[in-house]
Amino acid sequence: MIRLFISETTPPFAEGLSVILNPDQSRYLAAVMRLSVDDTVSIFNGRDGEWGARLSEVGKKAVKLDLIEQTRPQPTGQGPILAVALIKRSALEYIVEKATELGAGTIQLLTTRRTNASHTNVERLVSIAKESAEQTERLDVPEILAPVKLDRFLAAAAFDRLIFGDENSTHEGTRETLPLLQALKTTAAVERSVILIGPEGGFDDDERLALRGRPDCIPVNLGPRILRADTAAISALTLYQAVVGDWR
Ligand code: SAM
Repeated sequence: MIRLFISETTPPFAEGLSVILNPDQSRYLAAVMRLSVDDTVSIFNGRDGEWGARLSEVGKKAVKLDLIEQTRPQPTGQGPILAVALIKRSALEYIVEKATELGAGTIQLLTTRRTNASHTNVERLVSIAKESAEQTERLDVPEILAPVKLDRFLAAAAFDRLIFGDENSTHEGTRETLPLLQALKTTAAVERSVILIGPEGGFDDDERLALRGRPDCIPVNLGPRILRADTAAISALTLYQAVVGDWR
């Protein structure tokens, strides 16, 4: 069954509601998937669950859907925040696609002292997340937040726990660096956790000290090898979901 994410601006989903699809989605159903009147698709908007919908009009420019019934309720709760430093485009796009599959609730892009880029094409990342959500039976799309400086993100502290992937354990003296599994098993469950992953060049010493000085920060190691940032982000999310997240 074809699944489409319908932007939140539509009125709340209800039986009989008509929704006009945007030009891209209309072209996709009519010209690419060659659907016609009375064919059905599944739609979601990140708020009202999943609904079955019937194609009631298939025009050259627009396709109209009539909602039939809700097929799945909207789940409660939100996945973890993945805070990731800007890295090269292909790896960042890969992280967004996989983090969406793995149930990240929010993806916060960061600039740190060693990031090479200061901006990225957020719109493209949003469309990658939408497509990934449509393909993975998710009922929402993770929020992709435009790049902010690490210290500004930390100052805002819109989270309860900061799981900090620290590949460099030479700062052992300050705070112990726990294996991620142990950290997840031994720390209390909280509402909103952040998984923080650095850039290709890692965090610099000042950033590392500032992070380790925070009471809400848990420095973790992801094994004895230095992982690429995309591998680190995906493996940390996987373990998080398996131990304290929605894989349990
Ligand atoms: N600074 C490193 C270097 O070049 O030696 C590499 C940084 S690594 C490519 C990118 C990020 O992945 C790190 O900042 C860290 O957040 C995470 N990471 C990679 N391997 C890790 C490990 N073994 N333990 C904890 N975090 C790791």
